[in-house]
Amino acid sequence: MKINVLTLYPEMFPGFLGYSLAGKALSEGKFSFNVVNIRDFATDKYKSVDDTPFGGGAGMIMKPDVVDAALKSVYKSGPIYYLSPRGEVFRQQTAHEWAKLNEITFLCGRFEGIDQRILEKWQIKEISVGDFVLSGGEPALLTMLDAVVRLLPTVMGNETSQYDESFENGLLEYPQYTKPQNWEGYQVPEVLVSGHHAKIKEWRLAQSLALTKARRPDLWEKYPDRNKYERKVS
Ligand code: SAH
Repeated sequence: MKINVLTLYPEMFPGFLGYSLAGKALSEGKFSFNVVNIRDFATDKYKSVDDTPFGGGAGMIMKPDVVDAALKSVYKSGPIYYLSPRGEVFRQQTAHEWAKLNEITFLCGRFEGIDQRILEKWQIKEISVGDFVLSGGEPALLTMLDAVVRLLPTVMGNETSQYDESFENGLLEYPQYTKPQNWEGYQVPEVLVSGHHAKIKEWRLAQSLALTKARRPDLWEKYPDRNKYERKVS
């Protein structure tokens, strides 16, 4: 998977994706970064990349001509996303969709954002990391890509461990425990040491259902088997 990144801070990449599971996948070439410094495409002697907004208001806007030249230098195929609090919120489902792509391009904003005409001309989609405002798109992008990279084929050590995880089945994950069984008087739930696989499965599902209903009513509303379990979940 080839990841094109347009940014004013190229040194932020690969950032924390150079470590751990992602770092290994990066060094093995399972994905690659092609990072473009937008400032390299500035045309005036001050290397300006931003200017004041038409209509007035605070802050600066990234210039369309400069961003356009940066995009032309790198774009070949695949979707282009602008990191933006106005975008659709990134989810596990988005991570799965992106993990199937060969090439994807991202535009990281700074200042108050970019000129709207760039989004129109290049048919760029907007994607958000959540309902809060960052000072730039880079930390949002790195976070999203962390979720994508671990889904790439052969990146996760134990590939089956994905399927039980939060969001994968529409539910939050059940509580997990490891050794020692008795830790400072806190005991692991009996059922988990019973060796009774069907009972363990049932307990885990019940925990997942209860947690999801209590903490994420939005997910619970969308859960297809909700009616089947509604009465069992307190
Ligand atoms: N004026 C803009 C915010 C600009 S923040 C507004 O009110 O919508 C500066 C840059 O940070 C943005 O251009 C965007 O690339 C990035 N950014 C900020 N919050 C983000 C979020 N929640 N998700 C993704 N990118 C974000």
